[in-house]
Amino acid sequence: MSNSSPGATRRRVVVVGAGPAGLMAAETVAKAGHQVIVIEQMPSAGRKFLMAGRGGLNLTHSEPLETFLTRYRPAEPKLEGAIRAFPPEALITWAQALGQETFVGTSGRVFPRAMKASPLLRAWLARLADLGVDMRLRHRLREVRPGGTLLVVDPAGTPSEIAADAVVLALGGGSWPRLGSDGHWLESLRARGIDVRPLGASNSGVAISWSPGLVERFAGEPLKRIALSCSGETRRGEAIITSRGLEGGAIYALTPVIREAIQQDGAAQLDLDLRSDISLEDLAARLASTRKGDSRANVLRKAAKLSPAAIAVLRDAVNNELPAEPAALAALVKAVPLSATALGDLATAISTAGGVAWSEMDDRFMLKKLPGIFCAGEMLDWEAPTGGYLLQACFATGRAAGLGILAYLADRRPAQPPA
Ligand SMILES: Cc1cc2nc3c(=O)[nH]c(=O)nc-3n(C[C@H](O)[C@H](O)[C@H](O)COP(=O)(O)OP(=O)(O)OC[C@H]3O[C@@H](n4cnc5c(N)ncnc54)[C@H](O)[C@@H]3O)c2cc1C
Repeated sequence: MSNSSPGATRRRVVVVGAGPAGLMAAETVAKAGHQVIVIEQMPSAGRKFLMAGRGGLNLTHSEPLETFLTRYRPAEPKLEGAIRAFPPEALITWAQALGQETFVGTSGRVFPRAMKASPLLRAWLARLADLGVDMRLRHRLREVRPGGTLLVVDPAGTPSEIAADAVVLALGGGSWPRLGSDGHWLESLRARGIDVRPLGASNSGVAISWSPGLVERFAGEPLKRIALSCSGETRRGEAIITSRGLEGGAIYALTPVIREAIQQDGAAQLDLDLRSDISLEDLAARLASTRKGDSRANVLRKAAKLSPAAIAVLRDAVNNELPAEPAALAALVKAVPLSATALGDLATAISTAGGVAWSEMDDRFMLKKLPGIFCAGEMLDWEAPTGGYLLQACFATGRAAGLGILAYLADRRPAQPPA
């Protein structure tokens, strides 16, 4: 670690990665009066955060905290402390202090009124500059050495060493690598003996082998008010037909169970409910009340109110052999059998599963094998559905790692000379 003069309390902390997790760690440490350097390989900070704001920046969710925490599934006990210490209300207050009022959407999701991320990021970067944070853009971390020395390559390609009293790695996952989080850190941490779980797509689409005709006519079409079930779990929402299969909220929320089923059996069996808003009995009654002689397509369109895309998916799944009997047809509409053979590519997924194993970190988010080096954000081994859970965990773990550093530095304060 760098040489601090005896008795000095201002230390140098380097944060690598200027995404939500890294910037929150930088703010936490800088507020305590330490020197903070942020190393970021891209020409500007927060590129994925800005991208997250493109379709409406879903900062967090308004549901009760106990329900909120369950969204992290097996990682809940690992993230719980950080999120309880910086829960959704704290994030909302923090955003307000940066001039960003929020509102709760109909789904319970929380958005800034501006909807996009740029005003929030601008105000945040100004605050960090006021705190004296030294932002070094176009600087790439090549290696972390035990003891806190970082090998960093500057924009001219020249490597140099930066010594730090403590380091936060907030390097992101592996999705959307063109925004900076390219997952290249994985091998260098593994080379230091750190267990990093393989990075995989989360909140991604699934591959389904549609017939060419369906793709030609319906790729890009939405399937609304659907529910999707896999391995006993059901999610409502929407999906979009793609040339590869299906994308969309209902699919994203099921990625952990779909991944598990594919790993176990080579494919995940999905049941697609094309009319999740009415019961099987009601649907069967509607189908039974149609005129004799109506074609199956007409019955599905008029009585079941299915869109042409939904009817095409239904036909495709049963090789065009639709049952004639209303109860059987209703049962099929409520549970179209689909086989998902793969998840989408990591590069196009919204987020990443896998990352630094929890067993490698203490409860301050410090790597046990590399004391003084902390990790935060999406590079840790957790995943969550869309809905604001991703950003909430990134902010909360960034803050927790920053607080962890403050505690670590306080423990290592040089002994005061006797009076
Ligand atoms: C299209 C899209 C929409 C999204 N929408 C939402 C949403 O509405 N709500 C939500 O909660 N989440 C959303 N997310 C997810 C959210 O943006 C991420 O979970 C979050 O940005 C991760 O934060 P992070 O700080 O951990 O990593 P990142 O934001 O990925 O930041 C990591 C940073 O580290 C830098 N870096 C990596 N390696 C190095 C290196 N070797 N040297 C120097 N710098 C390095 C990268 O350049 C990057 O800037 C969305 C994601 C995408 C792709």
